Amino acid sequence: MKKEDIFALQQLLATPKKIAIIPHRSPDGDAMGSTLALYHFLLKLNHKPTVIAPNDFPNFLAWLPGSETVLIYENDKANCAQIIKEAEIVFTLDFNALHRTGEMEQVLNKVTAPMVMIDHHQKPDHYATFTYSDTIFGSTCEMVYNFITFLGNKDLIDKTIATCIYTGITTDSGSFRFPSTTGTTHRIVADLVDLGIDNSEIHNQIFDNNSFDRLQLLGRALQNMKVFPEYKTAYTTLTQKELDEFHYVKGDTEGVVNYGLTIKGIHFAAIFIEHKDENIIKISFRSQGNFDVNQFARDHFNGGGHINAAGGKSYESMKETIKKFEKLISKLTI
Ligand code: 5GP
Ligand code: MN
Repeated sequence: MKKEDIFALQQLLATPKKIAIIPHRSPDGDAMGSTLALYHFLLKLNHKPTVIAPNDFPNFLAWLPGSETVLIYENDKANCAQIIKEAEIVFTLDFNALHRTGEMEQVLNKVTAPMVMIDHHQKPDHYATFTYSDTIFGSTCEMVYNFITFLGNKDLIDKTIATCIYTGITTDSGSFRFPSTTGTTHRIVADLVDLGIDNSEIHNQIFDNNSFDRLQLLGRALQNMKVFPEYKTAYTTLTQKELDEFHYVKGDTEGVVNYGLTIKGIHFAAIFIEHKDENIIKISFRSQGNFDVNQFARDHFNGGGHINAAGGKSYESMKETIKKFEKLISKLTI
């Protein structure tokens, strides 16, 4: 972060303020972990922070300290819009383009208070007054740790804040296995563990939280998988009917895309999930190595993300979407 930005933010945060903190739509472990870490930190500085998520967060994150205070825009639009309007600072975390908040974009577009972006995705938009954006980081949570440190408040990071930060670092690094995991990441995690977090229990909360339905749905996705060794690609699909069959709830399809990559020789994996209520096919892409799924998602499927993890959507039918995808992969060099 630029020195003058840190100084300006120290000035802004020197007196108690109403502060809105916004994660992206369909918030994941990093989005919830980073917003709640910042929430607890700002509380300690005597501010009045509110985390407002565009839509609900998955159940496997509902144990996060402070998650019970999170407002869901979709469920309470007028109140949430009012809080954002009255906020004296608006933080946007774990995304870098306002459309990632869905309908909330209209409210955020009207914000006149200073905005702060903390994010690790590629190609940030320029809406924020203060932008801390760097793709070198594996998670926004790691950046929130740095942000608090830059402000000179590292000593305020307690077990609660550490728990939130640890959650996002863990989920966004695939439990410390993705290439973005650095020595610095581990040193930060060491600090967090020393603060007394229950790291093993956090893993249990996040990963050993399956319903039987969710496992059955995973089983279906694995059975539906198509593998193209010649293109180093595997993809799978889940239709709305299949989601319904296993009583899909938000979060159930999280991580399913990664199974494709566990096949020997497969470097590109995708999952296509039909959401009839929104009339879209939601797509997740993952790669191993140099194939840039962020670019692929941007070029062909109205999306974006990172080099090795991206998402997008299709407004065509499942059949048409798959046809398009199969045609595309036959021309790729992975
Ligand atoms: P996931 O596949 O887990 O939904 O998302 C993987 C990554 O891609 C995340 O970092 C997420 O922010 C990004 N991403 C997912 N969907 C979209 C999308 O529709 N548009 C953009 N720009 N990024 C996305
Ligand atoms: Mn993230």
